[in-house]
Amino acid sequence: MIAKYKTVYNENGEIAWCELVEAEFCCDEMKRAFEDGVIGFGDSRLIGCTSSKDSNINIYHYTCFPEGTACDAIPIRFCPFCGKEVKTIEVKKAKLVKKVVTVKKTEFEVVDI
Ligand SMILES: [Zn+2]
Repeated sequence: MIAKYKTVYNENGEIAWCELVEAEFCCDEMKRAFEDGVIGFGDSRLIGCTSSKDSNINIYHYTCFPEGTACDAIPIRFCPFCGKEVKTIEVKKAKLVKKVVTVKKTEFEVVDI
């Protein structure tokens, strides 16, 4: 399969996160595994992880404990179903630019009439 992704950099030029732009599946089994969340892009599925700096295609491995569920992301280079190469290609780059937001709000005061 081919996964095309976008890298977003922060103000310091470090990777803030990577996001999947387009996925071309090599076979129906891979598409199904992707849709079912067994295989996916990056590590954003990991519990407590809100932005993924990982640009791999991973198999997710869940372990259940009484305290909760732990998840590991294991990168794959070849499709486990048809054997085709798994390629990840950076197709876009973006950067975070500071945006100043001014919020207008209305307050009331009591005025004698
Ligand atoms: Zn495949």
